[in-house]
Amino acid sequence: MTTTDSPALQLQSGDIRLRASARNKEDAIVKVAEVLAQNGCIHPDYANSMLARERQANTFLGNGIAIPHGKPENRDLILRTGVAVLQLTEAVEWNPGQDVRVVVGIAAKSDEHLSILAALTDVLDDPARAEHLAQTEDPEDIIAALQGGGQAAASVPVETDANALTAEVVVVGIHGLHARPASVLAEVAGRFESDQRIHYKGKRANAKAMASILKLGAGPEANVLLEVIGPDAAEALAALEEAIASGLGDGEEPEPAPAKTVRAWTPVSELGSIGGVTACPGLALGPVFRLAGADIVVQDTPGEPASEETAFTNAIAAASRQLDELYQTFSARAGKADAAIFRAHLALVQDTEARDEVCALTDAGHSAAWAWQETVKKRVAEFAEIEDERLAARAADWHDVGQRVLRILTGRDEATINLPDDPVILLAEDLAPSETARLDPARILGVCTALGGPTSHTAILARSLDIPALVGMGQGLADLKNGAVTILDATSGHLYLEPAEADIESAKSFQDELRALREEEQDTRFQPAVLTDGYRVEVVANIGKPEDAAAAVETGAEGVGLMRTEFLFLGRASAPDEEEQFEAYSTMIKALRGLPLIIRTLDIGGDKGVPYIAVPKEDNPFLGVRGIRLCLAQPEIFLPQLRAIYRATVFGPVKIMFPMIATLEDLRAAKELAERVRREIDVPPIEIGIMVEIPSAVLMAEELAKEADFFSIGTNDLTQYALAMDRLHASLGKYVDGLHPAVLRLISQTVRAAKSNGKWVGVCGGIAGEPLGAAILTGLGVKELSMSLPAVAGVKAALRRLSLSQADALAKSALAASTANEVRQLTLP
Ligand code: PEP
Ligand code: MG
Repeated sequence: MTTTDSPALQLQSGDIRLRASARNKEDAIVKVAEVLAQNGCIHPDYANSMLARERQANTFLGNGIAIPHGKPENRDLILRTGVAVLQLTEAVEWNPGQDVRVVVGIAAKSDEHLSILAALTDVLDDPARAEHLAQTEDPEDIIAALQGGGQAAASVPVETDANALTAEVVVVGIHGLHARPASVLAEVAGRFESDQRIHYKGKRANAKAMASILKLGAGPEANVLLEVIGPDAAEALAALEEAIASGLGDGEEPEPAPAKTVRAWTPVSELGSIGGVTACPGLALGPVFRLAGADIVVQDTPGEPASEETAFTNAIAAASRQLDELYQTFSARAGKADAAIFRAHLALVQDTEARDEVCALTDAGHSAAWAWQETVKKRVAEFAEIEDERLAARAADWHDVGQRVLRILTGRDEATINLPDDPVILLAEDLAPSETARLDPARILGVCTALGGPTSHTAILARSLDIPALVGMGQGLADLKNGAVTILDATSGHLYLEPAEADIESAKSFQDELRALREEEQDTRFQPAVLTDGYRVEVVANIGKPEDAAAAVETGAEGVGLMRTEFLFLGRASAPDEEEQFEAYSTMIKALRGLPLIIRTLDIGGDKGVPYIAVPKEDNPFLGVRGIRLCLAQPEIFLPQLRAIYRATVFGPVKIMFPMIATLEDLRAAKELAERVRREIDVPPIEIGIMVEIPSAVLMAEELAKEADFFSIGTNDLTQYALAMDRLHASLGKYVDGLHPAVLRLISQTVRAAKSNGKWVGVCGGIAGEPLGAAILTGLGVKELSMSLPAVAGVKAALRRLSLSQADALAKSALAASTANEVRQLTLP
């Protein structure tokens, strides 16, 4: 695989200041910044940014080393990437109880300094080396130590023990060794007696310690070296290899599915409201209650070292029992995937490196609670520093786990989140997984958090508990008083304030209606979506696995409008071969019993990568070699897929669809390969369509429609590319709306071009599965709507209540709207 790693930094003796002095932490930061400025790395003002960063995030690393650096938004003050080192004769106190002798000031324009950080991780694991750096009189010692990891990162062979067994493995999975895969790996490693290490880019991790694995920062497709030494080394190595190759349980991200009919309620009066992002749709009515989120902070009040250590051991055992219980309860209630966070927390609580650090501190006369608090604080700071957002989010997990153990050590009650007797709508800054888990759904009507996005753990857990929830509501929540009655419409994304009696009555009867409606939708799910005036829309399903096909039929879908074949390729060590794909496609076709199946060819790239398909590391993967571009560049992947599809056509009606078509040349090249394969296999032609999900395809729709048999509009990507907003962006989440008039106008233009060339148009992006979206799309002339399984029954029922002229009118109003919000205000008849 090609990578574009930045070159490692080269340190010079002029970057090192030996035997320096500093009055305190701030003075040390100013002085190290002076060296950076003198060496032409920064504008002197960058010193203020470094001081500001320090106030925001602790840069103490451990073993007497700190790494002050500036805030990302001040990178324009960096003239060139550089590192300066201040060795202090007298330690300065960085934080209470944390002395620093070596200050490594970093000014990084991008990631050239990572090799130095990698080397520092090694020094951190070795107190004697750290002490040597604090005392040496030779700047070359510091240079050699800091560049050790740099060389390794630039792939100098890793040194392993001569008696060890080793193997190189590629990390499979979408997100690399993040918390859940790391916890699975640590669990596998823990079954063996041998010492097991993982090497990656000059860093070394203890495979039995999840936190240590996370520090590697190994992303998807990382090439790691396993080193195992001990009595059961061969078995351990084989187990680790197998665990990594099979993806460590890191499967595909599920499609965020509307779990139920999503109808918004309209207030009777003019009500003030606070907006948020839907985590779980639904309507709730009741008083708000703010969850007091005060963290436990302890002072160092030590007893005897031996009793402190016992208290700590007991607390860890108790926390482990709690987490195990939570895992079991949530697995039963919501499935293993949603519960996995508690297994990851269990691995953190049992982290051996953290335990050793705590014991060293209790031995040195500190209290267990204080020692644990400091140990966790350090890890929270370390993770908060990591650029990869997912790994940085582990800081919150450490914090959560830290508080759990502190609750036990300080005798606070785990079981109770003190809630009023009557059910409430819970308000919180954010909810840690363990807090969400401790909520009694019977006493929680809804949840509103100031922070968090739709993919946060709070959101996942709220969905699994089926509690209406909004996240990312901002600081407006802070003004609400406990007990204030509100109406939470998590479907439309509003918390309505101070409702009048009429609003309350209306919300109650709306809840009753919704319940009845859901039952009716289920009962009528096999009826077609025929509008009141006889016009018929095809409602089909989006699927990703062979077994989904039968489930799709069971939900009332009239076929499959989008089979995302990449799900057959994700989370495994090698591509499914032609035979395996043939089996998968045949299974689906047979399960559909004559209903149509549209197979979309591989859409890998963007957010979805696999280790066995080499794609150069890209700064903008969503704008890179993705979808059809990748397939055309790598026919060894594309041709077996086309062969498997054509061979399976003998079992029933199949259409091929190409993803990410941007140009006519893309379509022609893909069709040419498909036709070559078809002739070889000697089967009749089938329809070949394209996804319209790139604005250029909309603008070229006239030309494309002459050469494609049908269009299916991918509104998820079309929205992302039209609005220039990453579809997975947590804070942009609420603006990436497929019902934005800009997107609807693109859809309308596509439909007109297709119609004038006698071709049909479907939509398989998220808005097709929303009743309002489905109605507007119908009015725009879309003939087929493809959606996640839980949406099928509701959309069919909503369309059956509509006439074509009503759908036309809705579409006209939507096209004339100025904002997505205006479109969302439109109501279904
Ligand atoms: C889309 O982009 O709308 C779509 C359906 O494809 P995917 O979500 O798989 O990119
Ligand atoms: Mg797409």
